Amino acid sequence: MATPEQRRAWNEQAEKERRAARMAAAKKCGHEEWAKLPETRRMARMMKRDQYFTGRKCPQCSRYSPRETVTDRCLSCKDGFVRRHKPETLTVAHRFARMADLIESTGRLHRMGLNKVIRKTDVVVDPAGARAACEEAGRRSERTGRLHVVVHQRGRWVVRERRENAT
Ligand SMILES: [Zn+2]
Repeated sequence: MATPEQRRAWNEQAEKERRAARMAAAKKCGHEEWAKLPETRRMARMMKRDQYFTGRKCPQCSRYSPRETVTDRCLSCKDGFVRRHKPETLTVAHRFARMADLIESTGRLHRMGLNKVIRKTDVVVDPAGARAACEEAGRRSERTGRLHVVVHQRGRWVVRERRENAT
């Protein structure tokens, strides 16, 4: 068992290394100003800043880039996404396609909030059928103008309308 002093020292050391890695990453990209951004989304929200920079590579595009506070999207990914799809075609269906990708790659249930932000949950799911359900949720959401959700019940994927107060 480590003493509280030891643990504190380790944490301090880890934080120092994280800060150095973050600065090195920003420098490597030729954007030292990124190191001045908040380090986490939580901090960015508290500081009312639009972007934050973790100093770690984006898990999706493997590039260093600030992330948008509101959407939690990496700017580098967003840039590529917008280039591939005209902005007016950035629809809820695209978000559900993204959700299917995430469910398949992680094996965890994901949820979409009313703000359309996708969040990972700890619920382990069988991804088989997730993509079809996500596509259906996207279609129904667009047709009705009301956000639908994908739930996993008794081993089956179910699409239903999102209840206003549901989390
Ligand atoms: Zn990215």
